[in-house]
Amino acid sequence: MTFSETFTGREDRERVLTDILRQGRAVPGNTLIAHVDRATLTVLAVRRLPTPVPVLDACSCFTAESIQRLRAALLTLAQDFAPARTATNTRRRDVTGELITVVCRLGEAEVTDEDEQFFWGWRISDHPAPAIDCDVYMVTPSGWASLAGDWSGTQPALPASDPTGEENRAVQQASAVQEAEQILTDASLALLTPRSHECLLCYVHRMLLEFGCDGRLRFAAHFRDTRAPRATAMERRLGEVHGLCDCGIFRNGYDLRPEHCIPEVVHETDGVTYVEEYRWPTPLPACLGVRSGSTQGCRLWWRRLHW
Ligand SMILES: [Zn+2]
Ligand SMILES: [Zn+2]
Repeated sequence: MTFSETFTGREDRERVLTDILRQGRAVPGNTLIAHVDRATLTVLAVRRLPTPVPVLDACSCFTAESIQRLRAALLTLAQDFAPARTATNTRRRDVTGELITVVCRLGEAEVTDEDEQFFWGWRISDHPAPAIDCDVYMVTPSGWASLAGDWSGTQPALPASDPTGEENRAVQQASAVQEAEQILTDASLALLTPRSHECLLCYVHRMLLEFGCDGRLRFAAHFRDTRAPRATAMERRLGEVHGLCDCGIFRNGYDLRPEHCIPEVVHETDGVTYVEEYRWPTPLPACLGVRSGSTQGCRLWWRRLHW
């Protein structure tokens, strides 16, 4: 890729970081996302969110759910910065801005999981703003460092003690937390809400693609709570078809009807075609809809046969 770098060296990084910290009223525990003009290195806007606590699984990988949550928040912030890219406006040379992430925290200016989660959050965000999301920086009282490229320095740094007074800082921090929590809540609510007339099975399948299964009937229960609060027997009914967790509903309980599947293993004997295996298309067909309050699947689905 011949895409030119926004920064040429340490001085312009330090200057832009200083501007971001000032505009974003940096305090430890927050992360600043700045929209920077690539041509002039002007900081156009800065937003703040409380740095999420990184959630790691048994293999020390970020869990899909925590990264999806961060991704949703970053997407909301990116959309907030700039009008959405149109389909004809996605060429590289139209990219005029850069989104720079600055994790403000205590401790040493070395890469931690707190910083690294933003790399993954951005990598999968595919946000529509006319900007690229390259750099993640961390700034602490002992200086700054970049996640990639090995850049670091002692200035700018966060103040070791608070010159504006503890109380003032606490107020600032509280309002920033509220602001960002609102963004997180709005973003995750929009993602989690069943679509109008969407059936239980299409909804749970859509959520599994986005968030994965955590071993419970998490999304099925959310559907019931928001769409059909009187369907108290739902868990028992799903349990009867071996749906003890969200993904089990599909592994053991329900399958797409064959007319919506793609024939996979086909063979012909004496001029008769046999289909031995089907696979599900990606994406699935749109939900065929159910009446509101129903916890049945739509006509895309049928019970798996157990021999
Ligand atoms: Zn499962
Ligand atoms: Zn459906």
